[in-house]
Amino acid sequence: KGAVQLENLRKEYGDTVAVDGIDLDIRPGEFLTLLGPSGCGKSTTLRMISGLETPTDGDVFISGDRVTPQAANKRNTSMVFQEWALFPHMTVGENVSFGLEMDGVSKAERETRIEQALEMVELPGYQDRPATELSGGQKQRVAMARALVREPDVLLLDEPLASLDRKLRQHMQVELKQIQEELGTTFIYVTHDQEEALTMSDRIAVIDSGEIAQVGTANDLYEHP
Ligand code: ADP
Ligand code: ADP
Repeated sequence: KGAVQLENLRKEYGDTVAVDGIDLDIRPGEFLTLLGPSGCGKSTTLRMISGLETPTDGDVFISGDRVTPQAANKRNTSMVFQEWALFPHMTVGENVSFGLEMDGVSKAERETRIEQALEMVELPGYQDRPATELSGGQKQRVAMARALVREPDVLLLDEPLASLDRKLRQHMQVELKQIQEELGTTFIYVTHDQEEALTMSDRIAVIDSGEIAQVGTANDLYEHP
């Protein structure tokens, strides 16, 4: 559970080749980062893994199952975006509950799981706070809780810390890494920030023009240039 395989993954938009044949095996519980400059195809790759985008060619397998548009809303992946996109008119609890209601989880179990998820992101007891009253960092934590509460096999994160200031970003890097190690969830993390990739990743796939230029641990990539 939580293994992700990308096989010759490819996406074209008209004449633009966004993703140009990516092969990658990601282990269960691994923290894998897609690193590269803006426009190199990271987000498109992540959206194909989530099932939000259909590949032009190639396949994605999660926990052994092929990802198809029909199966896109299964519980095995959750996504966290750069902009937290909370529902502003809802409380923190209602925001975190949203995906669980769609999954058909009972009210009693929802309450327990929401409590646990908020503790994990260090916002214990925040259920009844209006989303609008939170700081940027708190909103991003609620977005994390909303993804984690569904207990996905794989968590997909698209530049989740990019809109935070430097100090908060560094704090959240440590926190995210702790959560990943505690849960054993597979994290696939998109960033253009090399320092962030080096801090958090088990392995880094360096993306260039829709292709993997290099893949390995931080040591593999930077110790022997
Ligand atoms: P990154 O996440 O690395 O910034 P993207 O995956 O967003 O890169 O984009 C890769 C390339 O594909 C870029 O040239 C981008 O303009 C193009 N692209 C991405 N999404 C679309 C889309 N929906 N329609 C057309 N072109 C797109
Ligand atoms: P990112 O770099 O994080 O992918 P972008 O600003 O490139 O963010 O893309 C934001 C949204 O715009 C995405 O949904 C993407 O699919 C879409 N998009 C990106 N490039 C293009 C493009 N050339 N034509 C149409 N849609 C695009």
